Amino acid sequence: MTNVWSNWSGWVKSWPVALLEPASEEELAAAVRDGVAPVRVAGSGHSFTPLVESQGTIISLKNMSGVIDHNDEAKTARIKAGTTIRDLGPMLFDRGLGLANQGDIDRQSLAGAVGTGTHGTGADLGSISAGVDGFRLVTASGEVVSASREENTALFNAGRVSLGSLGIMSEITMKLRTAYVLEETGGRLPVDEVLARVDELREAHRHFEFFWFPYSKEAIVKFLSETDAEAKPRRRRDDGVETRDEKIFRLACEASRYLPFLRGRLQNFLTNASGRYSLAADALGRARWSHDAFPSDRNNRFNEMEYAVPTERGPDCIREVGAYMRSCGVNFLFPLEYRYVAADDIWLSPFYERDSVTISVHQYHRQPYQQLFEGVENIFRRYRGRPHWGKLHTAKAAELKNLYPCWDDFLKVRRDIDPTGKFLNPYLKDIFGVD
Ligand SMILES: Cc1cc2nc3c(=O)[nH]c(=O)nc-3n(C[C@H](O)[C@H](O)[C@H](O)COP(=O)(O)OP(=O)(O)OC[C@H]3O[C@@H](n4cnc5c(N)ncnc54)[C@H](O)[C@@H]3O)c2cc1C
Repeated sequence: MTNVWSNWSGWVKSWPVALLEPASEEELAAAVRDGVAPVRVAGSGHSFTPLVESQGTIISLKNMSGVIDHNDEAKTARIKAGTTIRDLGPMLFDRGLGLANQGDIDRQSLAGAVGTGTHGTGADLGSISAGVDGFRLVTASGEVVSASREENTALFNAGRVSLGSLGIMSEITMKLRTAYVLEETGGRLPVDEVLARVDELREAHRHFEFFWFPYSKEAIVKFLSETDAEAKPRRRRDDGVETRDEKIFRLACEASRYLPFLRGRLQNFLTNASGRYSLAADALGRARWSHDAFPSDRNNRFNEMEYAVPTERGPDCIREVGAYMRSCGVNFLFPLEYRYVAADDIWLSPFYERDSVTISVHQYHRQPYQQLFEGVENIFRRYRGRPHWGKLHTAKAAELKNLYPCWDDFLKVRRDIDPTGKFLNPYLKDIFGVD
């Protein structure tokens, strides 16, 4: 039988010689040691870039899931690297703990999310990678090394965002918090008002983000704030089971695909249909435990580009991106997304030593994205944007070196730990500028 591996959006496909699913660190070490290069590790395949592609070996850690143990006092837990964030939520909650922040969805594996600097929103909150306290890594020879702030520090700084290029994490220790409840509020506001008030809005809420359909004069703002209110349970849907809103959105995407002149009207319709909550200060929203509050359903497939720009330049950047999208002549329907991530000290993190705003551009998976993303990427470049490693971009070594002060330190750690380049596929060789 032929092995086929595909990413979530369906744009990356790979036919490796071997597709392996080890169930223990020992089995993983043997798979890496004996595997045909390039050896790539897959999380849940939710990256849009060909990070996992390999004609050699692809390893999935889906059989390495669960919490190994936790420390109540330090508020940390040792977690098997293949655990999905979705499975992790209830496991931590049963121990009275929760992740400090999460992204839009929770389908990613923990190691996959860590590997690319996956993030949510919150001015004072770092990415999921910034919450890593330590990890165990299976290296090219099949040895296992540990890294933390105290042990193998260079490997720790390089490894927290490393695209599976140093080795394969078998276990990750995460810094956590006591379980907490978040209340969701939000609504529609004129986009000019949102951009004028972004500093105030982000200070007032633990999590603030907004979505903006560039043809609309209004944005949809979303807040999550900690509350003592009683949490309501959330019924999670299986993948592929659309909500009513998702179905409407998919039909709008299809309509816009065939009738592009409708895109402006459809974007206004979708904006008006959103914003269920009142923006009044005392508005009551939905209260849920954090792991239920963060994730959205995302069954409509798309491709995405996202760049992190310095926080203070975010409003100008998104204005320019929106104006470009309206004028470029490319048909699109998805909204832009605007979020905050706090600076960190991880060498290849898009947030390295820089408080950032992230701006994401999406294109429905049945429509071409190249021209749209190319134009938007030129704007991001002018704002010294750093690309999300798991989302589409065209940045290569020369440009990246200029954006990451510790680029050469990272490459040295990479060379030292994997001198034969066992973990490098052609895409990563291009990114790192190595043969
Ligand atoms: C619908 C959707 C919503 C998204 N929402 C967000 C969001 O809100 N915020 C955000 O920042 N991103 C978001 N993303 C991007 C996504 O979080 C990242 O691309 C993430 O890396 C995907 O995790 P994954 O488990 O699918 O890993 P994969 O995509 O399979 O792999 C990602 C990288 O991690 C490496 N890796 C995986 N496992 C290991 C391991 N055990 N050891 C070492 N390296 C490993 C892989 O080799 C690869 O380089 C979204 C993507 C989609 C499709």
